[in-house]
Amino acid sequence: MGKALSLGAIPTIEIEIYQREDAFFPGLETRLSLQKQLLIESFEYHYNNNKLYKDFCDKTGIGINEVYADQRLIPLIPSIIFKSMSVRTNSGEKTVKSCLSSGTQGSVSTIERDNTTLERFLGSIRNANDNVYNVEDAIILNLGASSEEAKDVWFSYVMSVSDMIFPTINYVQNEVFKVEKLLFDIQKYKDDYQVIFLIGAPIMFLELHKYMQASNIKIDLGHKIFVITAGGWKKYEGQSVSRREFKNYCLEMFIGVEHERIRDVFNMVELNTILPECECGSKHIPLWLDVFPINLDTYEVAKPGEVGLLGFLDASPKSYPGFVMSGDLGKITYVDNCPCGRNGICVDIVRRINTIESRGCALKIEKKLTQR
Ligand SMILES: [Zn+2]
Repeated sequence: MGKALSLGAIPTIEIEIYQREDAFFPGLETRLSLQKQLLIESFEYHYNNNKLYKDFCDKTGIGINEVYADQRLIPLIPSIIFKSMSVRTNSGEKTVKSCLSSGTQGSVSTIERDNTTLERFLGSIRNANDNVYNVEDAIILNLGASSEEAKDVWFSYVMSVSDMIFPTINYVQNEVFKVEKLLFDIQKYKDDYQVIFLIGAPIMFLELHKYMQASNIKIDLGHKIFVITAGGWKKYEGQSVSRREFKNYCLEMFIGVEHERIRDVFNMVELNTILPECECGSKHIPLWLDVFPINLDTYEVAKPGEVGLLGFLDASPKSYPGFVMSGDLGKITYVDNCPCGRNGICVDIVRRINTIESRGCALKIEKKLTQR
């Protein structure tokens, strides 16, 4: 009885994030009921506690009644706005982490997170680990810098959070990639853990590959290795390789590594949730999040398979509205029909639009919104 009473104090969204086994695989019924409810609650909360956001909504003519009718009408804040001002919601909690985007294109976003927001973020990573990666015992070898050294850039922060789930070691120190230490540690830890997660930007794996080829090193631990790429190519776009080529590079480094254990994860600083890939390489959208591409000519939601600018409705952050018009082009690949056999919507992020394009889009969208 006592347990039931204390559970009642936990917001529904937290129960879904922390406990639900199929959180990343919500079927149609869950999306129509629970997802809709979480998004409406989140909208109402930010609308009532964030003056800037309320003004923005009022300007677009969208209020609570409109959102009750269709939650996809929730006004999206162009990510460019996060680069120019603080969009802090008065959550009654202080900021414990100001997170920065990597800002390779010049401008940097700062997102203020309070404790509740960070805990939900950590919860979503835990859930993905338990129910998407299905890994119980692992060590994480990060082909990147520590959060302190990377000065709170979001992805390094994500890695420091993962340290609360599995022990994590960083292999970029003073801007130097410690390849030899990494190779040494893979051997050192191989018997202590079921799985060795190697996580990093794709360019770091290419660096590792170059070193191993030059030194004629191969590692015969394919059954233990789990490769996760994150963050895309960014300023290394010129060196980018296709996913298929990337997997071949991995196979050359790690004999026997399973294709389905080479996965990408999407995250961006404005999003309080990671998008993990299932074993079929599809990025599954959890139930507290809605993602839809917007056709830039019609401003309508694009049909499945059609590329558009991705809009995100994330119900999980409390210290800022997680309603973001991103700078990424993408498309919906599966609706309850991913080859992995699980339910839910899957999204493919096609590419990041450049700053000039995104400024243009943001202006167009703002104009469109204020004309409604
Ligand atoms: Zn899948």
